[in-house]
Amino acid sequence: MPKKPKTHRPKNAPTRKEQNAAYDARRADDWIRKLYFSARWIALRLIILARDPYCKRCERYGIATPSDTVNHIVKARDAPERFFDEDNLEGVCAPCHSGEIQREERNAEKS
Ligand SMILES: [Zn+2]
Repeated sequence: MPKKPKTHRPKNAPTRKEQNAAYDARRADDWIRKLYFSARWIALRLIILARDPYCKRCERYGIATPSDTVNHIVKARDAPERFFDEDNLEGVCAPCHSGEIQREERNAEKS
């Protein structure tokens, strides 16, 4: 059986384990991410999903898809003060949230 050649890693370069630890530390420190674990958000997202039972994006195309994700219309990072603002929230389906909306946000960042 051939052996896998050793991977070259420059001296002092962080190992994969160290890189992963640094990434986890950055994420744990992210205060917007923490808001998603708050009791206030967990309760509010259920209220929004009850208010918008069908995906707001699919609705535009006349399709009724149950919503299962709450989207920040103005991105949470752009307007953290509107994180819990019901007028800034809409119920969407997961495919719309991970597809259309994130594509819009990426395009907005580019311009
Ligand atoms: Zn949808």
